[in-house]
Amino acid sequence: MRGNMIFDAHTHLNFEGFDEEERAQRAEEIAASDVGIIIDAGDSVASSRKAIEDAETYSWCYAAVGIHPEHAAEYTEEDLTRIEEMLAHRKVQALGEIGLDFHYGKDTKEEQIELFRKQLRIGMSHQVPVMIHTRDANQLTLDILKEEGLFSEERKAAFPTRLNASGQPVPDARVQLHCFSGSAELAKEYVALGATISIGGPVTFKNGRKTVEVVKQVPIEFIMTETDAPYLTPEPFRGRPNRSPYIEHIIRRIALIKDMEYEAAEEILYANGCRFFDIPRDEKE
Ligand SMILES: [Zn+2]
Repeated sequence: MRGNMIFDAHTHLNFEGFDEEERAQRAEEIAASDVGIIIDAGDSVASSRKAIEDAETYSWCYAAVGIHPEHAAEYTEEDLTRIEEMLAHRKVQALGEIGLDFHYGKDTKEEQIELFRKQLRIGMSHQVPVMIHTRDANQLTLDILKEEGLFSEERKAAFPTRLNASGQPVPDARVQLHCFSGSAELAKEYVALGATISIGGPVTFKNGRKTVEVVKQVPIEFIMTETDAPYLTPEPFRGRPNRSPYIEHIIRRIALIKDMEYEAAEEILYANGCRFFDIPRDEKE
């Protein structure tokens, strides 16, 4: 089987830097490519709304809604209510992107932690998949996810199990570590807890050894692929704005690392995305 089988598990078609013409052009490119499904991630109330609009416009587009830690200093309780309401939309498949960013947000650590915990509680009460952004805050992110019950037995019981390589059912906490940049040890710890590791452009970078090691050590059943477009462009296009169809180069790299045929890797990674976000595996219309 060939064509329309790529899953982009985190991208920003809703990117505020696009005008409508540019957005339509990006969408056309995706429609014409092998990308079968994208998750359009919001990072504020406005961009989450935009992501929902995209999802209403394009059959192959689904939305994630949430407030990014970069907005930790300015969000309101009403914003959280809006996000919670959006979770009920038929094409909203996840809460995100949410998390901690201590690389850019050194001055707002306390506010970020509070915003993260509040959103995780919303995610827990609705039992929806969560999409986690973490930068320079690996240990604290893991601690908070544990404390808020994201890896609890109750949480895992809310979702169907997945099969490991030996065909045994293992729990799935529906926690996506978006563009994972931690160590292989941390990745394995997350997987053992029931999380899913999402791999983006850095796996193709010359200095991407750490991410290559993650892909080596984490079974492919626990990996998803994403572009984070327009950011984090993979080689050989690094330096230009990223686009969803470039994801093919990320999957090629994963297939190479895993010593698999490209088509086989693509197929498994597509199935992983559909399962994680509860999306039926229809071919693109
Ligand atoms: Zn992103």
